[in-house]
Amino acid sequence: MPIVTTRAVVLQTYAYSDTSKILRLMTREHGPRSAIAKGARRPGSRFGGLIEPFAEGMATLYMREGRDLHTLSAFDLVRERQALGRDLERFTGASVLCEIVMRLAPEHRDDRLFGALVRGLDELLAAPREAVEGTALRAIWRLVAVLGFAPDPAQCATCGRPLARGQGARFDFGAGGLVCASCGGQGPHLAPEEVEVLRSLLARGEPPARPGRRHRRLVADFIRYHVAEGTHLRSLAFLERGEEGA
Ligand SMILES: [Zn+2]
Repeated sequence: MPIVTTRAVVLQTYAYSDTSKILRLMTREHGPRSAIAKGARRPGSRFGGLIEPFAEGMATLYMREGRDLHTLSAFDLVRERQALGRDLERFTGASVLCEIVMRLAPEHRDDRLFGALVRGLDELLAAPREAVEGTALRAIWRLVAVLGFAPDPAQCATCGRPLARGQGARFDFGAGGLVCASCGGQGPHLAPEEVEVLRSLLARGEPPARPGRRHRRLVADFIRYHVAEGTHLRSLAFLERGEEGA
């Protein structure tokens, strides 16, 4: 039974028996893993209140070959990120990031994916109130890109010709991105300013202010169509709905 110590982010926890917790972890060295934290729900447990969603730490795991459930023996906290749970918009963004990783990450080490998850959670924690929505959508698109799916907003997804700036375009889910006027395509038509917002969500710079419901739906539908392949992601519905349904 090899013992490993690895950097890990807690993606989800649920109660198991009266005293224990089962965790879904994204580990840096071993990809996504499930582990039982025995006694974690007992008062005065050595895990304290540390193993909560979005927390990051050094996890010591007894790995059992051929088993899906390992045993967590220690979790040394690096970042707790509990503030993400105190703001619905930050919480929703962080939950989407964690659920994508939990359900869709490959079953092996992926440093870029681990890095994109951690970076997204930290950005959500640090974003000023008015920038949370843009920060969340940008972090979600970045994760989708690391998984190998993000659209290229500079060219037509069908014919590959560059898309002229200052023009609207259809977002064709089947084609996998924006489609030029001559290719036509199917799906929602984005006005020129909406195309610009999408470009900035997919780029590296500052996130756009308040991208709005249209863009929340766009990334949610894109994930359903291209990334999730039939896997139901519960957090996407919360993302689409938004705080005030705005
Ligand atoms: Zn085209």
